Amino acid sequence: MADETISWEPATCRHCEGAGCTYCNKTGTVLVRAPKKICPACDGDGCIYCGFTGWERPKGKYE
Ligand SMILES: [Zn+2]
Ligand SMILES: [Zn+2]
Repeated sequence: MADETISWEPATCRHCEGAGCTYCNKTGTVLVRAPKKICPACDGDGCIYCGFTGWERPKGKYE
């Protein structure tokens, strides 16, 4: 795809606050689309749209 280069930046997983959980692969950090934004659907609490990371557009299995 001749898409613009997507940049990602690390963000502390809001589900575990960086402690490491299954949603961040136990790293405590997730890659999210830059500039990182809190998930508007859950306001950072974690929902299916943000993969329970609390961030909008986390890089996941779909990327
Ligand atoms: Zn986590
Ligand atoms: Zn969310």
